[in-house]
Amino acid sequence: MKEAGPMQGLETARAGRSVSTQTGSMTGQIPRLSKVNLFTLLSLWMERFPVRETPSQKSQVKRTGLVVVKNMKIVGLHCSSEDLHAGQIALVKHGSRLKNCDLYFSRKPCSACLKMIVNAGVNRISYWPADPEISLLTEASSSEDAKLDAKAAERLKSNSRAHVCVLLQPLVCCMVQFVEETSYKCDFIQKITKALPDANIDFYSECKQERIKEYEMSFLVPNEEMHKQILMTTGLENLCENPYFSNLRQNMKDLVLLLATVASSVPNFKHFGFYCSSPGQINDIHNQSLPQDIARHCMVQARLLAYRTEDHKTGVGAVIWAEGKSRNCDGTGALYFIGCGYNAFPVGSEYADFPHMDDKQKDREIRKFRYIIHAEQNALTFRCQEIKPEERSMIFVTKCPCDECVPLIKGAGIKQIYAGDVDVGKKKADISYMRFGELEGVSKFTWQLTPSGVYDLKQNEPERRENGLLGPVALENERHPNKKLCLGNR
Ligand SMILES: [Zn+2]
Ligand SMILES: [Zn+2]
Repeated sequence: MKEAGPMQGLETARAGRSVSTQTGSMTGQIPRLSKVNLFTLLSLWMERFPVRETPSQKSQVKRTGLVVVKNMKIVGLHCSSEDLHAGQIALVKHGSRLKNCDLYFSRKPCSACLKMIVNAGVNRISYWPADPEISLLTEASSSEDAKLDAKAAERLKSNSRAHVCVLLQPLVCCMVQFVEETSYKCDFIQKITKALPDANIDFYSECKQERIKEYEMSFLVPNEEMHKQILMTTGLENLCENPYFSNLRQNMKDLVLLLATVASSVPNFKHFGFYCSSPGQINDIHNQSLPQDIARHCMVQARLLAYRTEDHKTGVGAVIWAEGKSRNCDGTGALYFIGCGYNAFPVGSEYADFPHMDDKQKDREIRKFRYIIHAEQNALTFRCQEIKPEERSMIFVTKCPCDECVPLIKGAGIKQIYAGDVDVGKKKADISYMRFGELEGVSKFTWQLTPSGVYDLKQNEPERRENGLLGPVALENERHPNKKLCLGNR
């Protein structure tokens, strides 16, 4: 399994050549994210998981996101915390179950992390080739240490059975354009434009420009020479040559643009958020909403998953999280990952096995809808943890759950649904969305204007509005600090 050292950096270049087999031809019409890119994007996104702690300025250790994949299925989404690095969290959370897993890091892990995950028998470690976990960009007096650490990591890499590499694939043709169009058309942006017809219609592009700037700062190295220096120090000298170097930088830039585009589709915009339409229900802890920034973060995970869809008309993504009894060592606070999915044909089927016709086709027998497995169904089927009845669990779905999925979600014991609701109460040709509106016993948080009561509260607390993140429950908790607090409030 050991890859010859000098060849490792060339992973990207090879992937570039095989681009045409990656997607496109399979789905016929819409471009699709490769699995590798989906995992990479999710690792970058996990690095941005909302923090509740103020990071100490002294540290040279950068926040790192991590996706743990087993048999091509996601079994863990993590983020480094104040106490632990991402690799250490992987070890604490998964232990020997890491054997044969693939790990996707948003930064090259330090030698302390690398030795443990290599020892656990992982199959592959992929990392984003910018500034590593122990930063090589900070000009601290300990930068010598950072270089020594990078050297140690190199030695571990070349002596390990695990394949430690940079896996990035160029996006397929038109992917960015497609993501832009579908992000603009998604439930969340559509609801804002409908609710505020006179609002600055360009809020979406504005939001996107801000995100692009922000993420380029985090994930790219602006200066080419500095980037080369980092690649040399981290054993990727082969990538410093052109055309590999310029290809690498272009791939990285495209992926960051894509992430910013998707993140802007669930924007932190004025008084929009995930709220319960019947707040009377919000008394039990299980019914209380997550802080808005965390709810938005999880919905963006689901939005990213939707770009792996096999349905060539509508991509849907779903992700399930649960909240443990107390805050744990993970940067995700008390939240832990349960499962995720997107809509696709049954596992193991050849794509051509099933009809792909949509409802415009008159002959009902050759329509696809009876064969597609919905995002929620895949998330439940391939969950890697049980859903515990005593814990608060939540599913995030990019569109309204249909009548087939609503009873499954309730039956599985999921306590909360966060969803788009543009289709609620509608009956489309083959799928109907009648049951979601009537569903009881599960709290439903849909994307809408902040209910007026909360809005007033916020206006009286301008300093809170700065954060723009507090939902009704978070506000409630602020005022009753002795109650069991929402995630993150220590
Ligand atoms: Zn580390
Ligand atoms: Zn469904």
